[in-house]
Amino acid sequence: MENFEFHGPSTLDQALAAMGAAEDGKFMAGGQSLLPVMKLELAAPSDVISLAGIEALRGIEADGTTVTIGSAVTHAEVHESEAVRQAIPALADMAGGIGDPQVRNRGTIGGAVAHADPAADYPAALVGLGATVVTDRREISAEDFFQGMFDTPLEDDEIITAVRFPVPERAAYAKFANQASGYAIAGVMVASGDAGIRVAVTGAGSCVFRVTAMEEALAADFSAAALQGIAVDSGDLISEPDASAEYRAHLVSVMARRAVEACG
Ligand SMILES: Cc1cc2nc3c(=O)[nH]c(=O)nc-3n(C[C@H](O)[C@H](O)[C@H](O)COP(=O)(O)OP(=O)(O)OC[C@H]3O[C@@H](n4cnc5c(N)ncnc54)[C@H](O)[C@@H]3O)c2cc1C
Repeated sequence: MENFEFHGPSTLDQALAAMGAAEDGKFMAGGQSLLPVMKLELAAPSDVISLAGIEALRGIEADGTTVTIGSAVTHAEVHESEAVRQAIPALADMAGGIGDPQVRNRGTIGGAVAHADPAADYPAALVGLGATVVTDRREISAEDFFQGMFDTPLEDDEIITAVRFPVPERAAYAKFANQASGYAIAGVMVASGDAGIRVAVTGAGSCVFRVTAMEEALAADFSAAALQGIAVDSGDLISEPDASAEYRAHLVSVMARRAVEACG
């Protein structure tokens, strides 16, 4: 790992000022994705600006119709939050299935969303639930946010401050995980509410995507049986030695049916 300058700001303004003055700065939240990338020397920032000490990025607020989670809230905190569990139990359950206890205690919702790993769980949760990504300068709908593999519209100096979720009528997430890492080989969030009926898939493709055919079938009949015979095209999916595209397509159908059943 290359040497870098470490900054520990306690306000957003200080973080933005440090980034503005840096030659090639990077924000760091939990470090669970950034540090491995730096150790592999795939990134060598001149300055690492920690967001962990910024109080404004912490906290969870629920008002009956929305749940707003500060970007520096860890996966463990989302999992253990009574407010999240009451409003969106599928989200609390999903966060509890990320990685392992060390990852959940350090990794944050903001870091996971900014990193936009195609196998991460949060992209399916955000798109499936119709969430909004809030930054220090704008609001971006989840569907506009995840643009491709590790690709988002975030500017280099832009900070995610929170993620806002509408409370669904019902929702559930089902994941077939990589046994070593916990990352999704295929993960499906099914939700219905003001954002309509949504089926969002992570892990299987190069970016989270919705399955319109499944959404239409569920609109007519919200049951696992309604999804029988509906499959995603394996030609659009990732193929790797441990999971072929055809296998992932099969898993998407199975996970979607499990998620619908779990919606109750
Ligand atoms: C062993 C292991 C297993 C894992 N398993 C899973 C899994 O099963 N499911 C899953 O979804 N994820 C998994 N992860 C990833 C984990 O969830 C990470 O926590 C997450 O991807 C990054 O969050 P972080 O807070 O650590 O971000 P960091 O590593 O600190 O940052 C990641 C990137 O986001 C940027 N960033 C961070 N915060 C912000 C912000 N507020 N605004 C703008 N940019 C920001 C950073 O500059 C960096 O580019 C795993 C990771 C590991 C190491």
